[in-house]
Amino acid sequence: MQHHRAIRTKVWQYPSLARRRGRFITLAAMVGLAGCSAIPDAPHRQPGRHSATAFTPSPAYGQCLADLGARAASFTPLPDQYYGGGCATTNAVRLVSLSGDQSSLALTNLGPVTCPLANSFAGWARFGVDRAARAVLGSALVKIETMGSYNCRNVAGTDHRSAHATGSAIDVSGFVLADGRRITVLGHWSAGTPEERQFLRIVQQSACKRFGTVLGPEYNPAHHNHFHVELSGTAFCH
Ligand SMILES: [Zn+2]
Repeated sequence: MQHHRAIRTKVWQYPSLARRRGRFITLAAMVGLAGCSAIPDAPHRQPGRHSATAFTPSPAYGQCLADLGARAASFTPLPDQYYGGGCATTNAVRLVSLSGDQSSLALTNLGPVTCPLANSFAGWARFGVDRAARAVLGSALVKIETMGSYNCRNVAGTDHRSAHATGSAIDVSGFVLADGRRITVLGHWSAGTPEERQFLRIVQQSACKRFGTVLGPEYNPAHHNHFHVELSGTAFCH
């Protein structure tokens, strides 16, 4: 798959947040993004060379981006994309990393997600997962491994679109700790040490407080290797 480089024409900053957090938080306006969205390796700032329309978020989206910045997340706002057949990503972001209590949290395999989902995910990563890792396993969280987010498909075995078809769900498969341990749903839900199994159940339960729908290995065989989290639904936690 050929990746198209996004051209950043203007760097959006929240100076007060940057000062408060002691780090540089940017929201990059993006244009020229083709169907396949990819994060450039490094920012491209070439003011005046591109006659691009300025990125103007809606008030709700703008507030959501500010909230995400306040969580010290590193991310890029994405232009709305409509793929047809009920598949689209709107008010979405590309998450680069999140923040735990003491360290940055890397993310793998994560595509576009809606901004509200990103916010809940950021809160869960820090307060649900990082703190559980330190409390139960004695080591901080440094990475969350996923099996993706946006995917234009139906719920397995049905004729209706999955929350993944709008970037409204994330499949979480594993967690890497500062001491190098890697705890996965596939490898440790049933076969882990008592502490590893307890950790996975605690992080699933904490996800249930922040997401409307959480599905794990006990739900059905399709979820034997990941937690599916999405905002819609009401305490549907299995
Ligand atoms: Zn899923």
